[in-house]
Amino acid sequence: MQAMVRNGGGVMRAMMMVCGVGVRQTGMAGAYNAATVNTRSMSSFFSPPYTVPKGPWGENRSARLELAAAYRGLDLMNLNEGVCNHLSVMTPRADGKEESVMLVVKYGLHWSEVTASGLLGVNGEAELVEGEGEPDIAASCIHLGIRKVRPDARVVMHTHQPYATALACLKDPSLLMVHQNSTRFYQRVAYDNYYSGLALAMDEGYRLGKALGDKDVLFMGHHGVVVVAQSVALAFDNLYYLERAAQVQILAQSTQKEVELLPDDVCQKTSQDFWRDVDKYSKAQFYSMYRRLRQTQPDFEL
Ligand SMILES: [Zn+2]
Repeated sequence: MQAMVRNGGGVMRAMMMVCGVGVRQTGMAGAYNAATVNTRSMSSFFSPPYTVPKGPWGENRSARLELAAAYRGLDLMNLNEGVCNHLSVMTPRADGKEESVMLVVKYGLHWSEVTASGLLGVNGEAELVEGEGEPDIAASCIHLGIRKVRPDARVVMHTHQPYATALACLKDPSLLMVHQNSTRFYQRVAYDNYYSGLALAMDEGYRLGKALGDKDVLFMGHHGVVVVAQSVALAFDNLYYLERAAQVQILAQSTQKEVELLPDDVCQKTSQDFWRDVDKYSKAQFYSMYRRLRQTQPDFEL
């Protein structure tokens, strides 16, 4: 299918980047329970729904809770594939030793089975230092390799999520600025078109990190996507909206009608408006998922 693109118009100049966040909408059946909204401080939506003690153990526990919630939440959204794909976060060691650890899933565990205490901690040489089991070797290679280039990437998430991965399989995998969700990623996406097989060596992660550069998202040709962020909430939120943006683009292109790109100035302004409050927006969604998981599968906090 030939993708058809036209840039122009100036349609949608006034857009709200995130509809409804922090806004009480009366009369909308099912959106929010009114009693819940009235009794819960709105600011609590942006705060962790759990408490941990101060210090390394508490920081480690917080990272475990949030990463476990991310695994479970992304599984609910069907953004994972089998027992592959992996999410990781850097955190202080629970025992307070100087070296930090990378928390990651145990190889072979389905994301619906992940628990906070079951996550494994590996050091910079991919050696197991917390927990028992076999860490995912691809996770260690990709995530630790990327962090050699991007030490600021506290959280790394890698998936084969369907729509974004489908874009990564195109000769031109560009995420087009065709929807307000797309503008969230305006000038924040890098592309790697040099797939060469399974990522089983640290060098491949290092190469992917170089391809990522200073961006937040990497489309890995013929493979999947990587998202990096400072917080689990933001990485989770970015992964979700990346999939939604890719889905809308593919659906629009599948009509075989002309696709209209948003003008650069609109993309830039919308992106700036969004990123100014990104911490609030991402926490609102991620912690809403956290609360949902507590209701439906509370064992993730074990
Ligand atoms: Zn992969």
